[in-house]
Amino acid sequence: MVSRAGHAATTSMLAVRVWPARDYTRVTLESRSAVNFTHQMVRNPERLVVDLEGVELNEVLQSLPSKISGQDPYIQLIRAGRNRPGVVRLVIELKAEVTPQIFTLAPVGEYGHRLVLDLYPVEPVDPLLALLEKISPEEAAAGGASPPQRPEEPPRRAVAEAPRKAEPTQQARNSERPEPPPSRAGDDERVNRLITIAIDPGHGGEDPGAVGAAGSFEKHVTLSVGQRLKAKIDAQPNMRAMLTRDADYFVPLQQRVAKARRVQADLFVSIHADAFISPTARGSSVFVLSDKGASSTAARWLAQKENAADLIGGVNLGVKDGHLARTLLDLSQTASINDSLKVGKAVLGELGGINKLHKGQVEQASFAVLKAPDIPSILIETAFISNPEEEARLNDEAYQDRMAEAILRGLRRYFAQNPPMAKSKLARLD
Ligand SMILES: [Zn+2]
Repeated sequence: MVSRAGHAATTSMLAVRVWPARDYTRVTLESRSAVNFTHQMVRNPERLVVDLEGVELNEVLQSLPSKISGQDPYIQLIRAGRNRPGVVRLVIELKAEVTPQIFTLAPVGEYGHRLVLDLYPVEPVDPLLALLEKISPEEAAAGGASPPQRPEEPPRRAVAEAPRKAEPTQQARNSERPEPPPSRAGDDERVNRLITIAIDPGHGGEDPGAVGAAGSFEKHVTLSVGQRLKAKIDAQPNMRAMLTRDADYFVPLQQRVAKARRVQADLFVSIHADAFISPTARGSSVFVLSDKGASSTAARWLAQKENAADLIGGVNLGVKDGHLARTLLDLSQTASINDSLKVGKAVLGELGGINKLHKGQVEQASFAVLKAPDIPSILIETAFISNPEEEARLNDEAYQDRMAEAILRGLRRYFAQNPPMAKSKLARLD
């Protein structure tokens, strides 16, 4: 606040962070107290101008321009300068037209006050298109003998799909889900339909997840295991995988679910690395959703901890997707929970071959990220990152590979016994 005399009650920046990603680039300004700001978009060239009131231009803020990488999909460069007494102006020169979302977050966990600048592409990145892009070189490598597994997506879908907007149009809602692919005449559908797995590396960006005694971040372990699992799945003739995040940035929990539904995933696999107060806690666990309360106090505690990811990671509450929230509430999840338990059991059995199990059976609790009503979903706590011995193994590439291999074996076992049939269950959502 600037007083009449022009003396600003100043606050200082404690940290600035930039999280570039194809989905969106986030700039976080962390300060001792809340910052008042105004912003405007300026055209030709595209710029976002943000005025920060009552902020001193300290070294932290001056370091912001150097944090922009040439690889950033949206930010060309940032300039920071004193604009007028008590006001620092940030000029963000953009590589493309963006839709900015600017919001503040109250202190939580290790963080002070945060001012968040999220720069979204005007047309949101469609996970389905990314999946098709990534599969096509392999189809080409296979000699192009097999016809495409999915019908061509009309380009309008990418335009109509606007999951981040506060009020999706009816048209966007209707076209949220592509038509199920037609079965090919004369083929055995159970053999030939591609199984799509959504892999969800937990946490990311502002949300490090659990932190090990030696300082490893859960978010790095989950991404690494997730990427290995994706490569292994994509190498299977009848499977393909989509990552809900493929870099170090935060994806809100509901968006992870929405991405999986967008690609009509047959299965959602969320990957985490557990933490507990006691450093001796150890072992792998598999969780599925419960609609009747948690199977144990520990499971409930863990679900609460994982569900806090949105608070740490930072979600703009102003644009909650009401449509998605309603869908998740309205539908019975009994069927997908039964399937989730089956796949969870298959994966847990394989994990038992490479690590101790924390518990001998699949546990259940109310994890927000497992709430796709139509997709069987499991959450794997690979090991305890809070256990120094397991932390060391989680950072070991060979062990990460074995972990991914074990998960894949579990998935294959499940699908061998429960081949995917027609996607009739999905149709009820349309
Ligand atoms: Zn986690």
